Amino acid sequence: MIDITFLGTAGSAPTKERAMPAVAIEYDGNVFLFDCSEGTQRQLMEYSINPFKIKAIFITHLHGDHVIGVAGLVRTLALLNRVEPLYIYVPEGEEKKVNLLITFDNALINYKVVIKGIRTGTIFKGKTFMINAFRLEHSIKTYGFLFKENDKLHFIKEKSLALGLKGEMFSKFSKTGTMLINGKRIKLKDVTTIEKGKKIVYATDTRPTKNTVLTSANADLLIHEATYSDVLKDLAVQRKHSTAKEAATVAKKAKVKILILFHLSSRYADAEPLLKEAKSVFKDTSIAYDGLKLSI
Ligand SMILES: [Zn+2]
Ligand SMILES: [Zn+2]
Repeated sequence: MIDITFLGTAGSAPTKERAMPAVAIEYDGNVFLFDCSEGTQRQLMEYSINPFKIKAIFITHLHGDHVIGVAGLVRTLALLNRVEPLYIYVPEGEEKKVNLLITFDNALINYKVVIKGIRTGTIFKGKTFMINAFRLEHSIKTYGFLFKENDKLHFIKEKSLALGLKGEMFSKFSKTGTMLINGKRIKLKDVTTIEKGKKIVYATDTRPTKNTVLTSANADLLIHEATYSDVLKDLAVQRKHSTAKEAATVAKKAKVKILILFHLSSRYADAEPLLKEAKSVFKDTSIAYDGLKLSI
């Protein structure tokens, strides 16, 4: 199970109801944080995410609304005597700025903070999942992230029994792909089924892009920015953001299962018009709110 919590859902500036962008993914006992806006550490408390379990933070780009929260979070973790290293992934070339956020006041940080510059491709590999970065189209260098569970192989019970598969034979067969059983060469694909791993895409801040469509193909969840309504499309183009309708078009083209919009401009106290225009293009759309949790 992958648990997703929206910690902040506004873009650029907070409102009474919405903090700035940050999303937590809990998986296999670890927390992976996507963006870390100002106040994210309080949002973690508010929505019961254990900050000690944060393994890594993935920063899409170096606009303040996505990264300033790192400064406070690393200090609080130091005060709470964190021991585990903390990994922070940032677009390549931006490492120094993030390092400055952590070191500018000579705070005593007694655990390791590892800042890694990223490019397109796989940037994090877990036992049963990986995280890939892909380029977005914004006013500065920005990456989206794909959280992808590995596909799972299941042996078909009746066929395995009939062939007399047991014990270590299963793992050996999985590795080799074929096996000689009773003088007959058996192929792995003839005795197994594949369960597709879950796929979540996080895309902000950005114009709608082909790259996002390709990366999100058949995703279980697409989290996409919708800073503006389509009424303000000119502004979206100018500031390199997306409208709700444009985000819905990405979801439709990629044939994702669910689209959740966030990073809303503070001018939308009522998000209903954004939801309406997005749903006219892609039905399975929701608008995130702070504290929204879902499991897939
Ligand atoms: Zn932003
Ligand atoms: Zn931005």
